Amino acid sequence: MYQYLFCAIGVVTLAVCATEAGAATGGATPASTALGSGVDLQYVDKAVRPQDDLYRYLNGKWLDTFQIPADKANYVSFTYVFDQVQEQLKTIVDGLPQAAAGGDADARKMDDLYASFMDEAKLEALGLKPLQAEFAKIDATASKKDIPALIARSNRIGYAAPYDFDVELDARDSTKYAVNIGQSGLGMPDRDYYLKDDPKLVQARTKYVAHVEKMLGLAGDKDAAKSAAAILKLETDMAQIQWTKVENRDPIKTYNKTAISALGTLTPGYDWQGYVQGLGLGGKVDYVIVNQPSYFTGLAKLIEATPLPVWKAYFKWHALSAAAPYLSKPFVDERFAFSGTTLRGIPQNLPRWKRGLMLIDGAIGESLGKLYVAKYFPPENKARMDQLVSNLIAAYSQDIDTLDWMSADTKKGAHEKLNKLVRKIGYPNKWRDYSKLSISRDDLFGNVVRATEFEVQRNLDKLGKPIDRNEWDMTPQTVNAYYDPEKNEIVFPAAILQPPFFNVKADDAVNYGGIGAVIGHEISHGFDDQGSQFDADGNLHDWFTKDDHAKFSTKTKALVAQYNAHEPVPNFHVNGELTLGENIADNSGLAIAYKAYKISLGGKPSPSIDGFTGEQRLYLGWVQVWRGKARDEETIMRIKSDPHSPPAVRGMVPVSNQDGFYAAFAVKPGDKMYLAPDKRVAIW
Ligand SMILES: [Zn+2]
Repeated sequence: MYQYLFCAIGVVTLAVCATEAGAATGGATPASTALGSGVDLQYVDKAVRPQDDLYRYLNGKWLDTFQIPADKANYVSFTYVFDQVQEQLKTIVDGLPQAAAGGDADARKMDDLYASFMDEAKLEALGLKPLQAEFAKIDATASKKDIPALIARSNRIGYAAPYDFDVELDARDSTKYAVNIGQSGLGMPDRDYYLKDDPKLVQARTKYVAHVEKMLGLAGDKDAAKSAAAILKLETDMAQIQWTKVENRDPIKTYNKTAISALGTLTPGYDWQGYVQGLGLGGKVDYVIVNQPSYFTGLAKLIEATPLPVWKAYFKWHALSAAAPYLSKPFVDERFAFSGTTLRGIPQNLPRWKRGLMLIDGAIGESLGKLYVAKYFPPENKARMDQLVSNLIAAYSQDIDTLDWMSADTKKGAHEKLNKLVRKIGYPNKWRDYSKLSISRDDLFGNVVRATEFEVQRNLDKLGKPIDRNEWDMTPQTVNAYYDPEKNEIVFPAAILQPPFFNVKADDAVNYGGIGAVIGHEISHGFDDQGSQFDADGNLHDWFTKDDHAKFSTKTKALVAQYNAHEPVPNFHVNGELTLGENIADNSGLAIAYKAYKISLGGKPSPSIDGFTGEQRLYLGWVQVWRGKARDEETIMRIKSDPHSPPAVRGMVPVSNQDGFYAAFAVKPGDKMYLAPDKRVAIW
């Protein structure tokens, strides 16, 4: 429900998904007005040498003066582009009534959904009413035997439950779809928020209980304080048996194929049939993939040990929390006070119309994308991007041949994987069909529930069918990109193909440092610590020799140590293991972009523009893309839950590992960015 849908699951994204109002959204100053070089020089800090801090050299004045807008947790180049896209989408949405009047059924749906969200007077009049039927279902739970059906219900309509499912390609047989089930159901971003003693996390915990109490009180719970304390206790018990985010990155340990008939052995006393039937899985599959077996065993015991009224309070709380953005103002405001302000440090919520756009994007996103692409994505962008991707793949191929640490056998596997890599650029060839989704102009809550179930059912309906190779996990208007290891494909939505990532009016160099490195990043996910465990056909199958594994592991350990050393907020270090896959992709992506640029020069020296060589502009393009700031609460939350390193760290660390950077800027021992050659980590 209720979350903005479509935050891609099972794929590796370039940046974190915007799942919440106030996520990766933008504001004030344009990042790049310069043409020609495409490097925005207005914020250069001349007091800093590029050899000492390239990131600060280009971005210094911005870092010193920029204020994060009041409705944002952070501000990065993604934010800047996101804001522009929202303005563009607004012009489309403003034209929907006319298109609807002309008989366009999808335009009618989008317009009705938007209108239902914008009608605040109606929502004020309704209060909690839209949620009452859901509460009644929870209240009607007669015994713990009904809990599996209740979890199925929450999975179908999108509020948090102790576990959740998704439909993905079977990681060991990528010719078919399979159901994965995994731990879920905490109201705070990570188990550490429940279990660690850092004062900032303790404070968030205290505020969480107060928030749960306030929300339940607003919803009429006379024992709200007692319920809130019991919910924290229950979620803390769940947190204790959950796997860490680092453990969850292991594709082998999280692959536990289990016959449905054998699930009971894992969870004595728990009735899986109630869940299977409730979800609508009956007869569709005979096995599921259990991500964290020990958690499920522990959960069965926890269900036994926890009184039914506590479970009821827990489910009501999560139904309420997920529904709150679509209820009256007191619920919207209280939810934002915790999710926005406490957890992420954002003073004020996004304007309502922006939240309305995000709702359309989540619920009927490809129909909106179809209009977006027609109006704002010129065909020449797709053609030039296609060429760039080809150049990057060619550079990757050459790179594999020159790697000094890899054996001939493993190189063969790497080439095979690269040859089979599928690319998707801009928008899908075939658009999604929303004709069966029912949207009503005066029923916001019902719309959100129906849209969520529509998407869940669409996923369930894939089971037993051939793989849909046309499907996209992001809408074209999303400012992001991803790699899907099971499909071995890289995907670049239209919206990321603009400055500062991709500037059609600029010389190539800055684009290689921007979108070129992004392309390299996504390709590298096929070869990072997780992706390299999948073969060319997307199957979890080892194609590295034992010796190469050992060498790969030495390199990745060095990279983990480099990132662990960064402490963007006092007492909160980057988690080098959690972010390893993304860090490999950043470092390798930038290295491959440099190689591709050199190939494109064909042996000629690069042209000098704005006083910089092409090689210099490439690295400036990289630090320009990662120019960014975040509020401390946001940084802490990301460190605990986001597999990407903070933007400034992404901007800085990979550069010092690039031999090309030392050549481009004549970096020498004694310069602050200097690393001795044996300390530089180069993987691909
Ligand atoms: Zn990534």
